[in-house]
Amino acid sequence: MGCALSTDSRTVRRDYRHLSFWHETVPGDWTPRAALPGDRDADVAIVGAGFTGLWTALYLARAEPSLRIAMVEAETAGFGASGRNGGWSSALFPSSLGSIAKRSSREGALALHRAMRGSVDEVLRAGQEEGIDFQAAKGGTITLARSTAQWARAAADVEEARAWGLDEDDVRLLDAAEATDVLAATRVRGATYTPDCSAIHPGRLVRGLADAVVRRGVDLYESTPAQAIAPGRVVTANGTLRAAHVIRATEGYTPTLDGQRRQMVPVYSLIIATEPLPAETWEQIGLRRRETFSDHRHLIIYGQRTADDRFVFGGRGAPYHFGSRIRPSFDLVPRVFDDLHETLVDLFPVVKGVEITHRWGGALGIARDWTASVGVDRDTGIGWAGGYVGDGVTTTNLAGRTLADLVLGRDTELTRLPWVGHRSRAWEPEPLRWLGINAGLRTMTWADREEERTGRQSRIARLVSPFIH
Ligand SMILES: Cc1cc2nc3c(=O)[nH]c(=O)nc-3n(C[C@H](O)[C@H](O)[C@H](O)COP(=O)(O)OP(=O)(O)OC[C@H]3O[C@@H](n4cnc5c(N)ncnc54)[C@H](O)[C@@H]3O)c2cc1C
Repeated sequence: MGCALSTDSRTVRRDYRHLSFWHETVPGDWTPRAALPGDRDADVAIVGAGFTGLWTALYLARAEPSLRIAMVEAETAGFGASGRNGGWSSALFPSSLGSIAKRSSREGALALHRAMRGSVDEVLRAGQEEGIDFQAAKGGTITLARSTAQWARAAADVEEARAWGLDEDDVRLLDAAEATDVLAATRVRGATYTPDCSAIHPGRLVRGLADAVVRRGVDLYESTPAQAIAPGRVVTANGTLRAAHVIRATEGYTPTLDGQRRQMVPVYSLIIATEPLPAETWEQIGLRRRETFSDHRHLIIYGQRTADDRFVFGGRGAPYHFGSRIRPSFDLVPRVFDDLHETLVDLFPVVKGVEITHRWGGALGIARDWTASVGVDRDTGIGWAGGYVGDGVTTTNLAGRTLADLVLGRDTELTRLPWVGHRSRAWEPEPLRWLGINAGLRTMTWADREEERTGRQSRIARLVSPFIH
């Protein structure tokens, strides 16, 4: 599975439908909308039509229907991570409460946590209001503990949550019997469970949002890569888009913009999908409420039961590429697909002979300090949101609502959250970036194997985990 190219007389077009299982199963057409036809003026220009750009456009258009909003998208809406992810719409934020509190306050960290929980419901509500069927089920997340070391981490996570005043409605510890009742994987010692996650079809959501913003009068220009962003303008080969506010919503692709090479690194996550499994198999496995699932290993894995009864199962482990390069071929790493398949069978031996029908991947974005941020610079009018690591599906919704308030100059609860206006320092120049990130990835894989063998918690993993989680 890759992204086949086909040519017509004027342009090179990608066969977007083959990008992932989600792309293949979105109803409707993937033909890109018209490109920017020349120089244009707008009130707000948004670069990138993934969840960040589209949520921002949607909330702006709802709040101020007369606002002239124009978006430029290099490929087609949903081409990037938003169309390819694991479909967890969770309340996870890529920094711990402790590190957010260190930069702001205990109350600020808790306010952000509450806003993320609320955003899980807002994604469902807004999708429904726009008439988008994205096959969502809010079953929560079960994170299994499958070794002594993982069980210790699960218990420590819950203990830490209690220290923050978070109760059983937020996260709770399940014993082996309770956990197995939800998800009958092998070697289950217990689990943590949170109700704050919906399993979704991200392709349906992102394409539905694109249709929704166009219906509301947003100009969405596709096949139009921005070359540079500057105060008051977005420069493309087709013309310049002029606007008082310019929003960067390019996440993992940010380093491809002029002058932004070290703002964000693209790190790849890869996914497999099985054929639909029969009802008898699901009776053995569980996930009756379509809970999303993971375990407490270091190098993240994530899975969901789709609406049509497949496993969609992903993980990190693909290499970071020198110079933050992004290529279609980087989406496909046979070694990582084999590891994912092996891990899925290890969790659920009953899927051993099941066909893997889809394999794909994509780039997510990581800031140097692993902290997602959103903001608008009042002096330049340039706004941004991103650095979500692997937790962007819901966080982009919070970002979109926050950017709308910031652009409209509103002082709200959202604009006072501690991630607003935060700026990470730049990533190191190469080869340090390449050496550091890949060494971190290897160490986490090694630590997981070591823990499985010895049953003890790996100390080195704790030291390097800020590079990977
Ligand atoms: C494989 C994978 C699995 C993931 N799983 C989950 C998950 O289960 N749950 C979760 O919460 N998060 C997950 N994530 C992360 C999540 O998908 C992202 O954080 C989120 O989708 C980011 O949205 P975005 O709009 O900021 O970026 P993107 O969706 O990447 O959108 C950026 C857009 O900008 C366009 N673009 C790039 N360069 C230019 C340019 N120069 N000019 C114009 N347009 C440009 C791109 O084509 C793209 O459409 C996953 C990510 C990946 C890759």
